[in-house]
Amino acid sequence: MDIRIGNGYDVHALAPGLPLWLGGIQIDSPIGCIAHSDGDVAIHALCDALLGALALGDIGKHFPDTYEEFAGIDSKILLSRVVELIRKEGWKVSNADITIAMQKPKLAPYITAMRECMASVMGVDPDRISVKATTTEKLGFVGRSEGCEVYAVALLVKE
Ligand code: MG
Repeated sequence: MDIRIGNGYDVHALAPGLPLWLGGIQIDSPIGCIAHSDGDVAIHALCDALLGALALGDIGKHFPDTYEEFAGIDSKILLSRVVELIRKEGWKVSNADITIAMQKPKLAPYITAMRECMASVMGVDPDRISVKATTTEKLGFVGRSEGCEVYAVALLVKE
C-alpha cells in the first residue's frame, strides 16, 4: 500500500470586528482573522498538509494572496480545489487531524460542525476528519489573543 503523510501550519493575526471563520464555520466572536481570504486558518493549515503529502508546494503557491481573484475568497473553495488536485494525481484522503490553538472564544460547541463541513467539502466521512482545540494557557501570542495558530496532519492513500 502506497501512503503519504503531510503536515501543515498556519497563523493569522486577530483583530476586533472581523468575522471569525474556522473549519468552514463562522464562529460567534468579537475578534476575527486579518487575511486576504476569509482567514480560515484551520482550512489553510489543512490545505498545506494535503499539498505537503504530495510535495505539491503550499497554499500560497497555488492561491497567491497578491491575486485579486482570491480576495475575501471562501476557503472552502480553496480546500475543494486542493482535494480535486489530489484526486487528479491519483490519491485519496484517508484522514486528517487538525489542532486549533486559540485562547478565546471557546471552540468546543463548533467542533462537530467544523468536522462535518470540511468532510463534506472533501467528500469523505466526518469520522476521517478530526478537529481539536486548545488554549495555550494564556502564554505567547495565542494566549494574548493576538493570533490563532493551527497545526494539521493528513494521510493520503494511492487510489
Ligand atoms: Mg492563511
